[in-house]
Amino acid sequence: MLDWKQLEENSKSCVKCELCRRRTNVVFGVGSQNTDILFVGEGPGEQEDLIGEPFVGPAGKLLDDMLSIIDLDRTNCYIANIVKCRPPGNRDPKEEEQDACIGYLQNQIQLIQPKILVCLGRIAAMKLIRPDFRITKEHGTWTQIDGIWMTALYHPSALLRDISKRPDTFVDLLAIRQKAKELGIEI
Ligand code: URA
Ligand code: SF4
Repeated sequence: MLDWKQLEENSKSCVKCELCRRRTNVVFGVGSQNTDILFVGEGPGEQEDLIGEPFVGPAGKLLDDMLSIIDLDRTNCYIANIVKCRPPGNRDPKEEEQDACIGYLQNQIQLIQPKILVCLGRIAAMKLIRPDFRITKEHGTWTQIDGIWMTALYHPSALLRDISKRPDTFVDLLAIRQKAKELGIEI
């Protein structure tokens, strides 16, 4: 396991998959290293690639609003992605790209030791919870894996495209707040 500084340095010069070729920035992650709550998206989009921070485009604005419903923001939780470089045209990251990159996220998880991990969308849920995770049916459900309580929300981009999914997400967010309370997490 690497410390934060070494891990970030390594990722910034990473050429372990082909996504390195077209990136502007490696999007390492943002937030508190001392938090109990980690959010994991899929991969950087255009704005994230340009700025070097996760969820700063349109989906990110919605994520900020979602977090604020449960008194979270970019300073009291941590936000990262399955892959740290932008897939061209925002396509899904390929299996081999996810496998090449996941070690950095696993190291971040080991450093943070979150009590709650929230997958944002199906790609993260399929990688971190179960390969056959069905986001439509299983968002908002909870599984404990290696001592971490894991759940998944619809991806904020999906919530931008389809407003009818938002009420479910509101309920799922309140459940995250409740789980945090049960686990004695101060927000
Ligand atoms: N979508 C993601 O999954 N991650 C980001 O960082 C931005 C958009
Ligand atoms: Fe390296 Fe991950 Fe970027 Fe691929 S996506 S080049 S594995 S940092």
